[in-house]
Formats: sequence, structure tokens, C-alpha cells
Amino acid sequence: EGRSIVFASGKGGTGKTTTVANIGVALAQFGKDVILIDADITMANLSLILGMEDIPITLHDVLAGEADLKDAIYEGPAGVKVIPGGLSLEKVKKAKPERLRELIREIGQMADFILIDAPAGLELTSVTALLIGKELIVVTNPEISAITDSLKTKLVAEKLGTLPLGAILNRVTSEKTELTKEEIEAILEVPVMGMVPEDPEVKRASAYGVPLVIKNPTSPAAIAYRQIAAKLAGVK
Ligand code: ADP
Ligand code: MG
Repeated sequence: EGRSIVFASGKGGTGKTTTVANIGVALAQFGKDVILIDADITMANLSLILGMEDIPITLHDVLAGEADLKDAIYEGPAGVKVIPGGLSLEKVKKAKPERLRELIREIGQMADFILIDAPAGLELTSVTALLIGKELIVVTNPEISAITDSLKTKLVAEKLGTLPLGAILNRVTSEKTELTKEEIEAILEVPVMGMVPEDPEVKRASAYGVPLVIKNPTSPAAIAYRQIAAKLAGVK
């Protein structure tokens, strides 16, 4: 069974979607079978960053018995597969949790890595996304407000039985006002797995609809994402 890892944050806009897209593609480039689940319907831009159009059938259609799982799996760049989450609040309320867990187990059989792009915060949909993954990676910016919100997310995930693996610091500029890696590890009580610098190439790549690790593999953020993926994949 593949590893299912949910990428979550307290605050919005910390870079979860960018991170899931680029680590997912980098894992695929390392030869891993990767499925990305877009669980953030309010800001469903994972498919946009990956340059994918027209992905109408979602996980919820499968839950509702209106579509087969295979119909909700779409092919993305570098062979990465994407499943639209479609976990709106109303739909989540109607979906049976047992069925959702069963479905996630089924998806877990299909890949080495299942990366879940979670909505920010701790609304029902965010908590549902935390439940889908067995492991948690917190995506945060090195600012105190983002870190304290990420701590809340981590504590809730732990309560739900999701194992916190570590944190990814995104948009690092090394300004004096930023917290250091050590300070952040002390607050979150998880290792920092990688530091992704502020990089204008990130926005350019997303405007192109091509993941940064493909569009500009030697840019600083792409290098950082590939290093994190290499650690996850266990490649040197
Ligand atoms: P989230 O999914 O957490 O809401 P996104 O991945 O959508 O965050 O990123 C939010 C914004 O920040 C986007 O405009 C994205 O292009 C930008 N961004 C993310 N990471 C970086 C980075 N390392 N350098 C520069 N811009 C970034
Ligand atoms: Mg997002």
C-alpha cells in the first residue's frame, strides 16, 4: 500500500498547492507512481498549476455511486495522476465516512504516493482532508502567525491519528524578521524537511500551467522541491 500524505496549513496561501504539484511531479520523475488528490474545492487550482483542463468527475461522484473511481482519475504531467476531491461542505455531510475511508484504501493500492492538497484552516472539509492521509506535512511560511496556525493544524491531525512527518518552510527570504529553522522546529515539534525559497519562477510556471520542476528545473524553488521529493522517495 502506498503512503498517503496530506499537505496542510493553518493559514491560506502558504504554498500547499504549489508544493503538492511540484513534489508530486518530482516523485514521478524519480520513477514513483503518484496520485494527487485535490481536496481543496474552494481554491481548486491544483489542476490549473498542472495545466490540466476539464476534470469534471470528482471523488464525490464516486462516493455517491454515480461514477467509477477510474473515471475520476486524470493523467497529468510526468505521468502523475490527479483525482479532483470535490469535497464541498454539503457533499461531505452526505458522504458516508466509512465509504470515504474504503475509497481512500482503494486509491492507496494504486500508487506509491498519494499526496492530498488540503484546504487551509480547520473547517469540516479541512478536517476531512486530514483524515484522508495517514501522514501529515505542514506547509508553512516562516512567520509567527503562520507557524501558530500550523501548530493548531498539527495538533488536530495528531488527535485524528494522522502522523506528523514534518514541516516544509515555503517562501523563505532569510530576512531578519523570519523565524529560523530551529525556532520553528521547537514550536511545531516536528523536523523541517525542506526550505523552499521565495522564487519568482513559481508564479511564472503557474501562469504557464507547467509545474516548476518541469518548466524551470534549475530554479532555486525547483531544486528545493526535488530535494524534498528525493528524501521522501529515499533516493540520493
Ligand atoms: P495554497 O495552496 O497554500 O493556498 P498556493 O500554492 O496556491 O498556496 O500559493 C499561493 C501563492 O503563492 C501563489 O500565487 C503561488 O504562485 C505563490 N507561491 C507559492 N510558493 C512560492 C514561492 N516559493 N515563491 C514565490 N511564490 C510562491
Ligand atoms: Mg491551494
